Amino acid sequence: MLESKKMSATKTQLLGLTQAELISFAEQFGQPAFRGRQIFASLHHNRLREFAAMSDLPKQLREQLETLATPASLTVESRYLSADSTRRYLLKTHDGLPVETVFIPEERRDTICFSSQSGCPLQCSFCLTAQLGLLRSLTPGEIVEQIIIALNDAYGVGQKPPHGTNLVGMGAGEPFLAFESLMKALNIIADPKGLHIVPNRVTVSTAGIVPRIKELATMADRPHLAVSLGAPTNEQRDVLMPINRKWPLAELLSACKEFERSLKRGERFTFEYVMLRDVNDSDEHARQLAKLLNRHELRVKVNLIPHNEAEPLPYHPSSRTRVEAFKSILEAKGIPAFVRRPRGQDIFAACGQLAARREANPIHA
Ligand code: SF4
Repeated sequence: MLESKKMSATKTQLLGLTQAELISFAEQFGQPAFRGRQIFASLHHNRLREFAAMSDLPKQLREQLETLATPASLTVESRYLSADSTRRYLLKTHDGLPVETVFIPEERRDTICFSSQSGCPLQCSFCLTAQLGLLRSLTPGEIVEQIIIALNDAYGVGQKPPHGTNLVGMGAGEPFLAFESLMKALNIIADPKGLHIVPNRVTVSTAGIVPRIKELATMADRPHLAVSLGAPTNEQRDVLMPINRKWPLAELLSACKEFERSLKRGERFTFEYVMLRDVNDSDEHARQLAKLLNRHELRVKVNLIPHNEAEPLPYHPSSRTRVEAFKSILEAKGIPAFVRRPRGQDIFAACGQLAARREANPIHA
């Protein structure tokens, strides 16, 4: 068992290769370029997770691939189905670490919330993932594979989804601390010969890694950005989101301004604000938040997210009337605000609840 784990760790993880890299990989062991393209399509377009199932490849090539590479490296440990049809997948890496992915069906599109790290090094006090600490950042292949697993589970292996798929990098981990993996994964996911989910359908959320926000501002093909604020003052944000001690609000918001200036037509840029009852949800907090955004002349919208309870965290969600009052104050000060409806709370799939939690009622994989 240990031996097989070691072996799979040294084999090339094909899902982490771009189409061009897969072509070179095939050429390195004497195959023509079209075989590389075929393997890419089998993995990403047909979403096959075993070489044996790639029947358009010669048997000998499939056997050769078995010895050199791996078409999949995550295993599905459990699946949970919410009363609102959200699905949560608890996956495991080849080295035994937890990865979580959430599939959220909606009338006109589906959203897959993927993880960029196993655990998370940032200590946001309202988030259960923080309690795992950082186990490690995920590889590009492990990010891509989460999408393949969720789509195969929802629609069947290789079946075309009936409508568009949006991706959000809001699962476990801070995506901007896995920046290279993330960007490579998004590049692979966008390939028209594969999953073909373009950056315009992807939103990545950061707790405020300032240098990466600035870097993103200079990139041409980039996902949409969401920045998690959590508090309107440094004093409070230092406690709720300790990353603020490294990059305080003034630095964060001036990076956001730089990003806002680089926005192209149709690009989305949002702030997320988790609402914690009696902690950051008063009228005064709303006024402070409006003042902060207006001072930096930021015209982006704010998503208000009532906290999802997750023991042993000491927080509770703000009441509906409190959320509405907070929203009205922002709007009166010229800031568009929206309330995000939580999904999958009953299966610990909602924002801030991902902590590799095993429940008593998994559905069969
Ligand atoms: S909210 Fe995001 S960045 Fe903060 S600890 Fe949780 S997973 Fe990490």
